[in-house]
Amino acid sequence: MRVVDIIGRKRDGFANTDEEVQFLIRGFALGQIPDYQMSSWLMAVVCRGLDERETFSLTDAMVRSGETLDLSTVPGFSLDKHSTGGVGDKTTMAVVPILASLGIVLPKMSGRGLGHTGGTLDKLESVPGTKTDIAIADIIKQLRSVGGCLCAQTKNLVPADSKMYALRDESGTVNSLPLIAASIMSKKIASGASAILLDVKVGRGAFMQHMDDARELANLMIRIGNANGRRVVAVITDMSHPLGYNIGNLLEVREVVTLLKDNPWSEPRFKELVKHLCSLGLAMAGITNTIAEGKDLAQRQIVSGAALAKLSEIVAMQGGDVEIMTHTIKQPTARVKFDVKIRSTGVITALDADRIGEAAMRLGAGRSSKDDIIDPTAGILLRKQVGSRVVEGTVVATLHAPNEVLVRQVEEIVHDAFHVLDAGSYVETPLIHETIGNYN
Ligand code: URA
Repeated sequence: MRVVDIIGRKRDGFANTDEEVQFLIRGFALGQIPDYQMSSWLMAVVCRGLDERETFSLTDAMVRSGETLDLSTVPGFSLDKHSTGGVGDKTTMAVVPILASLGIVLPKMSGRGLGHTGGTLDKLESVPGTKTDIAIADIIKQLRSVGGCLCAQTKNLVPADSKMYALRDESGTVNSLPLIAASIMSKKIASGASAILLDVKVGRGAFMQHMDDARELANLMIRIGNANGRRVVAVITDMSHPLGYNIGNLLEVREVVTLLKDNPWSEPRFKELVKHLCSLGLAMAGITNTIAEGKDLAQRQIVSGAALAKLSEIVAMQGGDVEIMTHTIKQPTARVKFDVKIRSTGVITALDADRIGEAAMRLGAGRSSKDDIIDPTAGILLRKQVGSRVVEGTVVATLHAPNEVLVRQVEEIVHDAFHVLDAGSYVETPLIHETIGNYN
């Protein structure tokens, strides 16, 4: 079999056979197929697509490229939760402890942030001491004792994906539905949970900008999961504006703790999404029957303090300083805080998630390339949300930065992310668009 023929067939619009896909992925993971050939094939896939059989085959080859997690010695219903990524999306850090406090096992492996979207690992590591690189044997031990784990993908879990994703990032081949679906689902399948809950984001701050694409991606991932014996539910949620008030690592941890303390100042859409995801997970586990029942139960775990206690247990087990995580007053904060004031009067009709994400990244909260160093205290506190009335001079956001230079660089970006029009032009965007798959 010659790689050049595999590439040629895809380039000319033909399907690759299972053997060809397996040969390509195995060879690439082992370093026998060079980057330039793999990127040619990836570009051919972006242009010509993959049919369902090829996508399943690609996912399977990726899973087989490394080790998988065997959860057979961990008692209980296991669930994995995944978000396709967004700005201010910190739901994992709330959903995992709420569900783990109710006996569900959550082996949650996450990635780091790249570009304008943040990664759960960076958020968690902003709590001093927290380790996220955990060996498989220790993940299993942790799941047996506390039920939840918030850790990095182990090095040898789907190594083909880590290599391919880096190449896709540099060769303009990220944006392909089958490549995204195979990349996400290969990691979910290798992580071993019997059920998977997907939060597919749609809107300016997400990979998928249009509802049709988000729906197609969700359905494809469900079919991949089902073909591998997993129950999968996907919920399509809005990412046209950021989720919650805070964007930035330690700021987002603080927002999670605020929610889990049942603080009335919690941002309503963030709280709603956390409870909705929990209710789907609880229904999948057979603990509750309806969304309403599940939300009530999630709220009870918050009010009783059980959810925060569980997050503290998880973080403590991973070496993190729970005192600092739970007491805002003890947390380090950014050296410079700068208020952005709006220069018009009306209603905020839109708040561009991608611009806010980009600004937070430039302040030091994210990475533009994978070796950039993150500043855990940097970020943006949104003081006004979509739907808020503002007058000229209203503070709409506070920038948290290590120095004034960075503030000057992003001040205008943040200001221009807020669209202010007269009240009649405001139409509320629903947070939860649709749920796909059977959760009962
Ligand atoms: N997240 C992934 O893990 N892979 C993709 O291709 C896109 C988003």
